[in-house]
Amino acid sequence: MVQSASTSGIITGIIIVIVGIIFISFVRKIGKTQKKIKENISGYNAVKCPNCGNLTGTLNSLCPNCGSRLRNFSEKEEKELKDEEELREEQSIKDEIKRLEEKKQLEKDKGEIE
Ligand SMILES: [Zn+2]
Repeated sequence: MVQSASTSGIITGIIIVIVGIIFISFVRKIGKTQKKIKENISGYNAVKCPNCGNLTGTLNSLCPNCGSRLRNFSEKEEKELKDEEELREEQSIKDEIKRLEEKKQLEKDKGEIE
């Protein structure tokens, strides 16, 4: 009777140890995954926008949220950025002209119908 009780005790102990090992390896696995995710994020080198606090990757030179500059620009980049801005401005003017022309045409068409 005493023998049996101690045997079941040992078995219970072994089970607890096995479950414990499985549990620990599981927790470690999660920890490793989390560490990997953290490493990936830090490898991505997120930068915080000085203007709005938005976090973004270093690949972005401008904040995608507010358009602030996230780093110092070289002369060449400054020029490229200026050209881009000018191009965008030009495009928006063109769009506005197109919109006005379409509006005019629409009013004209309306006037012809009436
Ligand atoms: Zn921003």
